[in-house]
Amino acid sequence: MPEPAPNAANGARPDTRVPKRQVVLYPDPVLRRKAQPVKAVDSSIRELVEDMFLLMDLEEGAGLAAPQVGESLRIFVTGTHERGVPRKAYINPVFVELGGDFESMDEGCLSLPEIRGSVRRPTQVTIRALDIDGREFTETSSDFSARVWQHEFDHLEGVLIIDKMSPLDRLRVRRAVKDLKAAADGDA
Ligand SMILES: [Zn+2]
Repeated sequence: MPEPAPNAANGARPDTRVPKRQVVLYPDPVLRRKAQPVKAVDSSIRELVEDMFLLMDLEEGAGLAAPQVGESLRIFVTGTHERGVPRKAYINPVFVELGGDFESMDEGCLSLPEIRGSVRRPTQVTIRALDIDGREFTETSSDFSARVWQHEFDHLEGVLIIDKMSPLDRLRVRRAVKDLKAAADGDA
């Protein structure tokens, strides 16, 4: 999920490391697969998470899920300065509770460039996951994190914003979705 606002210079030191992976774009089939649980949080998982953080920063995302870097595993990372979303990895996440009101908000996705649309989601979420040391934790959020968690969790189920956006927006982005498919066909 991209950051909601244009990313102004935030004073962070430029990161010169180069990610090993790339963000995969729709309609790559990995984005439609149900991701597999992580069996053990070992060094290969930590390497993947590091790479995901690197890519998320490079692409100015607020969150990034493992299927978006071509790895069909139940992992996502979050972090954005603007909206106070902590920099964190969620491994094998589950929603303990979805509540509050429903709210519609425009969302984008790093795997669907140029496409944005209104998505309705519950505003309060309790999530349980493993951290990068394999320790279980539980968190509740009723702010922007709650939305990012749901967007990224959808990726682990093979669900994209084009499946969930309002019918009007779905119509509006139809052309852009078609163009993405055509671009992928061109590469083949
Ligand atoms: Zn996304």
